[in-house]
Amino acid sequence: MTAPYLIVDAHEDIAFNAIVLGRDPRRAVQETRAQEPPKGVDGIATSGLPNLLAGNVRIVFATLYVSPHTNPNPANKTYQTPEEAQTLAQEQLAYYALLAADPRIALITSRADLKRIVESPEPRLGLVILMEGADPIVKPQDVGKWHEGGVRLIGPAWSQTRYSGGTGKPGPLTPLGKELMREMTRAKFILDTSHMAEESFMQALDLFEGTVVASHSNVRKFVPTDRQLSDDMIRALVKRDGVIGAVFYNQFLRHQWRQNGAAKNAVTFATVIEHMKYICDLAGSTRHCGIGTDFDGGFGMEATPKEIDTVSDLQKYGNALADAGFTDADIRGIMGGNWLRVLERALPA
Ligand SMILES: [Zn+2]
Repeated sequence: MTAPYLIVDAHEDIAFNAIVLGRDPRRAVQETRAQEPPKGVDGIATSGLPNLLAGNVRIVFATLYVSPHTNPNPANKTYQTPEEAQTLAQEQLAYYALLAADPRIALITSRADLKRIVESPEPRLGLVILMEGADPIVKPQDVGKWHEGGVRLIGPAWSQTRYSGGTGKPGPLTPLGKELMREMTRAKFILDTSHMAEESFMQALDLFEGTVVASHSNVRKFVPTDRQLSDDMIRALVKRDGVIGAVFYNQFLRHQWRQNGAAKNAVTFATVIEHMKYICDLAGSTRHCGIGTDFDGGFGMEATPKEIDTVSDLQKYGNALADAGFTDADIRGIMGGNWLRVLERALPA
């Protein structure tokens, strides 16, 4: 029997789900499901610590995600002002510190932390903290404080923020956004471009000098919305040796999946691989592809590919890549190795 793949999942909204939806991430998915209505809260739960560990998901980029008041979902705690956003994000950051008291969980803020998690004989989960939408940063000069607090990636946009055009809201970086790029370079953050409007994205890549990724984005060629990456954006990320996390959300894998009747089984790992192969072909290699499931990020198991019941089924994605003809080395890169390369390059010692 071959060793399981070491998996890095570059996007899960763990603190938001705990604080806003009342989902304890230390519970198994099955336990969460038993406590929720049949359709779940915000969908049927997919991720939980025992399932992550069973699937050898060793690292998750765990978000600080706070909803602007324009978000129509009434379950959300929302913000109007930057100060309110800051308070909500700090609450989530404190929650991750609390989670790390569990011996099975650790925060990863350095290469030494990373090494401990990767080399741990017992499966343990390492969390790399990612701010999704930069509104909680009251002013760009505050990024140093967030870095000290343990945040290692910042995505300037979700929808539009004070910094950047975002999903459904095209446009350039604001003057504040340009300043943020300089401050993020100085503080050695990783820039997460997922959700950025294309115009903002291109400006950000010109201004920001550090490591650039897209934690959870698919290919616009197949799903033509501004939430996905255009060919130019993919090429720009490749040029910076960035990595793109594949989102395991059917609506982002198959054009108008929901509008066309929403059968879970209509989308399979083959669909994910189609997106991924497209990126590999543009790049001329597999080193820019990774996983960024966004599991439980506003959708549930019912909106994930056929083969997924819980997050531990990601192991089977590796088998599907093998069936599709990828080499073992390439598969290990896609499952986690490519993200590890990014973290080793970008994290402090
Ligand atoms: Zn997102």
